[in-house]
Amino acid sequence: MRIAALAGGVGAAKFLSGLVEVFPAEDLTVVVNTGDDFQWLGLYICPDLDTLTYTLAGLAHPERGWGVRGDTFHTLARLQELGCDTWFLLGDRDLATHIYRTAALLRGQSLNDVTHRICLANKIRATLLPMTNSPVPTQVHTDEGILPFQEYFVRRKCEPRVAGFTYSGAERSHAAPGVFEALREAGAILICPSNPFISIAPILAVPGIRETLRNSTAKVIAITPIIAGKSVKGPAATMLEQLGHEVSAVSVARMYQEFLDVFVLDRRDADLEPQIAYLDIEVKVAETLMDTHERKVDLAREVLALI
Ligand code: GDP
Repeated sequence: MRIAALAGGVGAAKFLSGLVEVFPAEDLTVVVNTGDDFQWLGLYICPDLDTLTYTLAGLAHPERGWGVRGDTFHTLARLQELGCDTWFLLGDRDLATHIYRTAALLRGQSLNDVTHRICLANKIRATLLPMTNSPVPTQVHTDEGILPFQEYFVRRKCEPRVAGFTYSGAERSHAAPGVFEALREAGAILICPSNPFISIAPILAVPGIRETLRNSTAKVIAITPIIAGKSVKGPAATMLEQLGHEVSAVSVARMYQEFLDVFVLDRRDADLEPQIAYLDIEVKVAETLMDTHERKVDLAREVLALI
């Protein structure tokens, strides 16, 4: 049996690093959000693809969740001396990925092909696919106007109040080669613990993906990104609140209701089970806080047991 997963960055990387310990990585295809992608000094940067790549390759920084472990920042420091904007932190080894990717894209390769090469070079056995080869940059509507995603997220540290999102160009985009095949061939489709607005929604905005999930006979299982009304990291809970949703895992389940079979709810939220069951979604209560390697593997085992 093959598994397909929809993924953002850090939360997904934690879960998938546990999954590949108990499920053959060769049989896993991960469809990755590219709505966070941006260009900086001419370099094409794909934060979620890179977080997953570094994590699955065992190169990720253990605490930060981004970048390469033990990286240095000499290039960035020198660029700052030259007067460049350096609010997005990029280490020297990390920069090599962006230089390699950008050069390949400029030679006319697709993001899909470059991603495949980067995975091979990093000995990653799972297949990572960008959701699309076309740029679909997420724009954040805020009380300070419309901000490109990284402006909102990194430069403004999620301070502006969110009123909505545009996944620009999504309606004209095409899923990257392999995405529909992976979803159709999968015995189970996992929605990783990722931000529903800025990681999963952009993937679902690519034409055909939402319909494929809705029509799938595979079990579609989501793992909560919200524990006890809070995000483990990042702005998911703040976004729920600012957009007028109840700040709980139930709101996330509701966002996936039309295609979801099972929702994995954190044990701290066990009392929410009836509200999710009411949406006609099966509930599995589990320890979902992945703060140790054992917990990542245990959660993966629990999810596999549902399939
Ligand atoms: P990105 O790395 O910023 O692109 O973020 P993601 O799309 O991966 O989403 C981060 C989400 O993952 C947040 O809502 C976090 O609460 C969630 N998350 C991170 N770590 C964990 C964890 O250990 N357990 C659970 N259940 N969710 C997590």
